[in-house]
Amino acid sequence: MDTPNRRYVEFDLPATPSCTSAIGQAWARVPEPLPAGERAACVARIRELLARERAVLVAHYYVDAELQELAEETGGCVGDSLEMARFGRDHEARTLVVAGVRFMGETAKILSPDKRILMPDLDATCSLDLGCPAADFAAWCDAHPDRTVVVYANTSAEVKARADWVVTSSIALDVIADLHARGEKILWAPDRHLGDYVQRQTGADMLLWQGSCLVHDEFKGTELELLRAEHPQAKVLAHPESPAAVLAQADVVGSTTQLIEAARKFDAGLLIVATDQGILHKMRAAAPGKTFLAAPTAGNSASCKSCAHCPWMAMNALSNLAETLEHGRNEIRLDPALGLRAKAPIDRMLDFADRRKRRVQASGDLARDTALYASVGPA
Ligand code: SF4
Repeated sequence: MDTPNRRYVEFDLPATPSCTSAIGQAWARVPEPLPAGERAACVARIRELLARERAVLVAHYYVDAELQELAEETGGCVGDSLEMARFGRDHEARTLVVAGVRFMGETAKILSPDKRILMPDLDATCSLDLGCPAADFAAWCDAHPDRTVVVYANTSAEVKARADWVVTSSIALDVIADLHARGEKILWAPDRHLGDYVQRQTGADMLLWQGSCLVHDEFKGTELELLRAEHPQAKVLAHPESPAAVLAQADVVGSTTQLIEAARKFDAGLLIVATDQGILHKMRAAAPGKTFLAAPTAGNSASCKSCAHCPWMAMNALSNLAETLEHGRNEIRLDPALGLRAKAPIDRMLDFADRRKRRVQASGDLARDTALYASVGPA
């Protein structure tokens, strides 16, 4: 049963060599919001602590709007997981505070092994990460030695270390299309919806791990049809972790950064958004005057696991951010050898993105260059 600051959540646990598919159970410790009178003092204290620790705050689009604003106001960044890691890697600060979920902190550590990486709560996890245990994943890879292993960024360092490629939602299509053109067969993990989308778009030979994001998995195609019928002028923006029935109705399918850009550019005043509702803070800022509707989930019925907001992203708050900085708690630690192995497939993706960018720049095709630049990025 949920308690005031502990939420129990269920998610699909895919079939693995060691277990048939099941419902996984996890929890999220969501801090109580600070009373209004204490918020300003807490924000001021965090500013002081960031300066004292010479730290920079990097936040994901799905965390609380106050944290996003604080990151930007203090010279940090708000972005998707890869933008966060790249920003942290290239920033001069020796301490990065990552407001997001654990795999994001790990990715920051993989790319910046010499920096101190802190997080408001190290137990903030992800159903994709939980649904892809490293030992089961390794056994699956061992059973298919003829396939190139491509994993999504939402995985543990151990799973990344077993992969040939790490990809983000925006570059997955291009990487898989390139591998397919070379005649390579793919093992894909862990998100089944993104994998299915990429497979349909590229025609590649892919075997899919059956994990899912508990937020996006909840969006419903039939209810979306009904909502569109009510608002025929609305455009639909969907993240590719959503089910195929939702993606089939989307005007734009893209990563978080791409969806924010689409919200800004679209010539429509009403937008239906199928991704975590934390993104609306940035979308509203990018497209003032437009109206955003959340894509329908199972609503308030018993089967709604997330109601379109990630319970683990909600574990990041002003209070535990201040505590983390005050006491230097919650540091991400990673075996350096594991970090090096996990870095190789990430570097392969970054090199691919850079090569592609240079090719397009050399062609002088600015329209394509712009499109490309928008699509190089994140999960
Ligand atoms: S929104 Fe989904 S993919 Fe993102 S951290 Fe939460 S569970 Fe994982």
